[in-house]
Amino acid sequence: MSREETGLVDLHTHAIAPKLPDLNTVTPWEHWPSVERLSNTQARVLVGNTPYRSIDDRCWSAPRRVDDMDAEGVAVQVVSPTPITFCHDAPIDGAAVLAAAQNDFLAELTSQQPDRFRALGAVPMQESGCAVAELRRCMTELGFLGVEIGTQIGDRELGDPEFDPFFAAAAELGALVFVHPSDITLDPRLARLGVPFGAGLPSETGIAAAGLLTSGALTRRPKVRLCLAHGGGTLPWLLPRLDQGELIKDPDFPREQLPSALARQLYSDSLTYDVESLLLAVRRYGDEHVLLGTDYPFAARESPAGAVLREPHDQLTNECRAAIGAGNARALARHADELSRLP
Ligand SMILES: [Zn+2]
Repeated sequence: MSREETGLVDLHTHAIAPKLPDLNTVTPWEHWPSVERLSNTQARVLVGNTPYRSIDDRCWSAPRRVDDMDAEGVAVQVVSPTPITFCHDAPIDGAAVLAAAQNDFLAELTSQQPDRFRALGAVPMQESGCAVAELRRCMTELGFLGVEIGTQIGDRELGDPEFDPFFAAAAELGALVFVHPSDITLDPRLARLGVPFGAGLPSETGIAAAGLLTSGALTRRPKVRLCLAHGGGTLPWLLPRLDQGELIKDPDFPREQLPSALARQLYSDSLTYDVESLLLAVRRYGDEHVLLGTDYPFAARESPAGAVLREPHDQLTNECRAAIGAGNARALARHADELSRLP
């Protein structure tokens, strides 16, 4: 069988250009990210003047990535921006320039091997009109699968009605909206405790999703395809308690609008590092709504890709492993391609 038929589709990988535009020439802001090239293969990301993370050419080199994909049986990587570049709280002019530059970079990277890469673009969410314009460009001109956004837009929540036009456009275009936490916006307490990665990021995703599920936003936006990073973080475990919370407030609360019922509209990746946690995500979102994700090429990554899918467990059927490994992502890609090409 060909790689197309047997290979994994990794929905959750990141990239960053080896050079970002100098955004201070657009609008001064102290937290703009930049990339400082140290050699052909090494670089570091800075936030303002502060070093943030060392990176290497796996972040920007298609051949380097393909070598790793071939070694791990990955047919396709879906490449998304690095969360430090979201800048949803930045001045809009610079954020729009940064999003457009990142999308041009992702388009160039994926065009080197279009059968091996798809992209999720960047959008300047703080201004709905700008976000919709860049989303349309991603879907209709650049051929992306969707976009990636943060768990909060500055101080605003994803369920805020201000974002309804953006999510309506995403639904119309078949765009997958990948919701990913960023460590830069976490409560400083988590860094003091030494658990921003282990507890902070999954809690942030769980809280953002809990807000979405109780805000009425998913009832207003029934067709949007929202995918939560890291299995939805703490959300799968929170759902029964969120249901109980709604029923305490209103014993007659409509059962079909309880958070656990609305969560069936959501998607998540598989990045849980644990087969029991993966099974809970599958139970909460549904067999067809969980997709392989690894966080390649960062330290958090599942290695080899799809390791959790190979763990023995009698409740994780071969059909479900295949759907998570590739089938569900391919179905989403078909949906995006059909809708984004409508006149
Ligand atoms: Zn990630």
